[in-house]
Amino acid sequence: MNDKLINISLYDEKWMESLATKIFDDIAELTKDKQGVSRETYGKGETDAINYLSKLAIKLGLHVEVDDAANVFYSSEPIENSKYILVGSHMDSVPLGGNFDGLAGVLAGFLILSYISKNKINLSLPLKVVALRGEESAWYGRNYIGSKSIFGLLTKEDLNATHRKTGEKLSKAMQNCGVDLNKIRSATSLINKESIELFIELHIEQGPILVDRNWPAAIVTGIRGNNRHHNIICKGSAGHSGTIPRYLRRDSVFAGADLITRMDDHWNTIQQHGGDLVLTSGIFQTDSEHHAMSRIPGEIFFSFESRSQDIATLDALEALLKSECKTIERERGVTFEFDDLIKSSPAELDKSIIEKLLDAGEFLGFERASLPSGAGHDAAIFANVGIKTGMIFVRNDKGSHNPYEAMDVKDFMTGLSILKKFIIDY
Ligand SMILES: [Zn+2]
Repeated sequence: MNDKLINISLYDEKWMESLATKIFDDIAELTKDKQGVSRETYGKGETDAINYLSKLAIKLGLHVEVDDAANVFYSSEPIENSKYILVGSHMDSVPLGGNFDGLAGVLAGFLILSYISKNKINLSLPLKVVALRGEESAWYGRNYIGSKSIFGLLTKEDLNATHRKTGEKLSKAMQNCGVDLNKIRSATSLINKESIELFIELHIEQGPILVDRNWPAAIVTGIRGNNRHHNIICKGSAGHSGTIPRYLRRDSVFAGADLITRMDDHWNTIQQHGGDLVLTSGIFQTDSEHHAMSRIPGEIFFSFESRSQDIATLDALEALLKSECKTIERERGVTFEFDDLIKSSPAELDKSIIEKLLDAGEFLGFERASLPSGAGHDAAIFANVGIKTGMIFVRNDKGSHNPYEAMDVKDFMTGLSILKKFIIDY
């Protein structure tokens, strides 16, 4: 770290922007992979990035606390017997991901805290910043691991989830990062929820809307929840592609394709009736050990994910999925085997916070821009345990969960200044 940026005497917007650029660059370098960055959930990249930030926090004279789930909190000084404003996001990334997903939100809070602390700005409630672990489901098929742990919501099934490549259990990885597994297993809250006045997460937008509308930042109105099956197996019967007539075939690929087509029809109908829904089958494969061009595929496995702002839509779709499988089983002589359904509830964000954030943006000369979030975020966990929650999106080109994420630091500073104004005025 360039100590000049720490020892400088003028702590203004320019200082924050220079420090932001420096931290983004340093952490990208520290966690770089073949392409982009890899900050593995409860793994090396995530830990390296957190340690970098904590070291810097100490240099900046901030107070650092680690909870029993290895999430890290920063504040000007220890906060006891007072409510506080909590700001944060996650430190992990998907494999070969982008530098800004998650990190931007932690950094926004971190820089505002440093600014407030260095300039001795009085707040009506103190500010705490959290660097959360394990938000991305890409590593263990489970998301929001750090934030769920805070509220005692991590389940036995979550802890037993296995790593996508190594097969190692999540519990083991957490233990390696110093997590107190007994505490997590006891499902007790690690935090006094009543002491959190509100939670705000700044995040890059992971869709194309802000770029399309030319908004540098916008306020989020709600977060889609999701229903996920990681691995559904469709079993039919393998056979010679030339010898078996149509009526005797039990082709698993045709059955799976039939299912996806039916679900696409339901999606279309629900959307035409004004429902909010998106569906994806991101993994869909035959077994490469056995598959061949001239072999009727006996087995496929696939994932199925639905997202909506409305929990009733998600539940209805899950029921449709199961009933279509029953029909296809009868018609095509196959069987479907389901893994456990993993649910993340949609989240309502706090209306008064949304208004105050829009006001802050307007005061700073920006349009009153708002939109719902198609992607899930830790903020959903905070909102769903009853904490007043808000979110700010920052414009980001080229999508997310890929190495090409492109957030301009100027846009980041816009989101940051809206958040800073909100916190100082609160
Ligand atoms: Zn994220």
